[in-house]
Amino acid sequence: MQAGVPPRSTPKRILIVEDNELNLKLLNDILEIHGYVTIVAATGAAAINLARQHHPDLILLDIQLPDISGTEVAQHLKADAETRETPIVAVTAFAMPGERTKILESGCDDYMSKPISVREFLELVERYMGGATADPL
Ligand code: MN
Repeated sequence: MQAGVPPRSTPKRILIVEDNELNLKLLNDILEIHGYVTIVAATGAAAINLARQHHPDLILLDIQLPDISGTEVAQHLKADAETRETPIVAVTAFAMPGERTKILESGCDDYMSKPISVREFLELVERYMGGATADPL
């Protein structure tokens, strides 16, 4: 390494919790293209384990999961000192006004409706991450 050249920053890591394979692939591909490292989980239980293990910079959380609901996952994560600082963005098809309140009360920091707009999705992610860390070339 040359003097004066700062070390390359560690890529930001995002845990994607999504049981639908196509949605998972979409979110994963968008994030990888923009320089993020992804970790994926298809169940609430896996999400909790991976969040504790990897301390991601952000969690994208589907609400309808096959085991426990995303709101239960958020409650677990926000009650656990290991994971409570990690921002959680719910990504859900639920559109009822009351659902949004319920999701935010469960501990999610933000909320995005499916189908996602790629641009709005990236803007939301970057708001929590302070920008992607891919080489700016
Ligand atoms: Mn789902």
